Amino acid sequence: MGDIGHHPERPNWDCPSCRQPWPCPPARVKLGETYGPDRIGLGMYMGALLFAAVAEMPGPNPEDLYQRFVAWTR
Ligand SMILES: [Zn+2]
Repeated sequence: MGDIGHHPERPNWDCPSCRQPWPCPPARVKLGETYGPDRIGLGMYMGALLFAAVAEMPGPNPEDLYQRFVAWTR
């Protein structure tokens, strides 16, 4: 088994490793390490992904997706 990593599977935006909604806890840790103190950069990156996710997932409430994608970066 190769390491498929904690990246979102699209268009359902689940983590193929954890089978949890992305960003899963390991993905959040990794993103936090990648951006370090640059919380604004991280927030902008997640905001761009939120925009894509809202377009690709018609089901979930955009406010819930905001909480899932962006709120944890604050
Ligand atoms: Zn994962």
